[in-house]
Amino acid sequence: MQLVGIARLAAQSELLEAKRKVEYFEIPTRSLLNRSKPNMPFRWTINPYRGCEFGCKYCYARYAHEFMELDAHAFEDKIYAKESPALLLRHELAKTPKADAIAIGTATDPYQPAERRYQLTRSILEVFAKERGWHIGLITKSDLITRDLDVLAEIAQRNVFNVHITVTTTDEKLARLLEPRAPRPELRLQAVQKLRSAGICVGVNANPVMPGITDSEQSLDRVARAAKEHGAFTLGGGPLYLPLAAQKVFLPFVEQEFPDLAARYKKVFEASVYLSKPYKEALSERVRRIRERYGLAAGIIEYRPELWAEEEQLDLFDTLKS
Ligand code: SF4
Repeated sequence: MQLVGIARLAAQSELLEAKRKVEYFEIPTRSLLNRSKPNMPFRWTINPYRGCEFGCKYCYARYAHEFMELDAHAFEDKIYAKESPALLLRHELAKTPKADAIAIGTATDPYQPAERRYQLTRSILEVFAKERGWHIGLITKSDLITRDLDVLAEIAQRNVFNVHITVTTTDEKLARLLEPRAPRPELRLQAVQKLRSAGICVGVNANPVMPGITDSEQSLDRVARAAKEHGAFTLGGGPLYLPLAAQKVFLPFVEQEFPDLAARYKKVFEASVYLSKPYKEALSERVRRIRERYGLAAGIIEYRPELWAEEEQLDLFDTLKS
């Protein structure tokens, strides 16, 4: 079979390093900013890596490896580091309107283990640290983010910048099952605290909320309480979404670990990759109530970055002089 496009690039990529079962490759990239679907709260996404070593059982992004003619499990074993992302970003920002929101880490975790070595996420953040006036979001479930507190704080002074830390459950054992190689929930919550102390607008996302596994009032309440105690401003909780590539991993996992739920999961997701409208509405109402209980906000917080205010002061001085 003749491989084309991204599948051909993946097949030709140079092997950088092999560790355990995980292999790292470098992949040429034509553009870093990818346009998001129209119903998303951001216009552009940035994912410095393809594949994610954390290997969450529910990960919807596994389809990305199928584009490269790789199977859904390879998503966590073959990690592709994009070439020269900072250079690409500088060029692309020059052509992008500042009103367009940009989200980092929508399809792979920007602070997965590969980041310790390749530092692609840091290089991207360093570009944003020299910019001003952008609306930027970053999503991760790794406490490695605290390595970059210096550059994150700089971004927050000149841009509207929201960090979202994912905590699906505070139960360490359950988290280990669901997210086998991601940092423990407690480490993620400590990262929330450090981000808050550094002046960064940080929230906790319980996404994806999984029926019968993490969607109980008690489970979501524990996440919300921990989020509040560690200084989060916002709480999110969206429903599980399982495209076919993700079903190949998640449904056998449910059968093995939650056999009582397996038949219902199979029936629901055979009919659609989305959960039903009544389920989504009931979940949204539950999350709204819990959020209110702890005085947490929803979604993205708009705030005036420190240096915007300073600029206004300087503008006034200029007026007095003339
Ligand atoms: S951290 Fe995110 S991208 Fe990585 S495997 Fe988990 S859900 Fe997928």
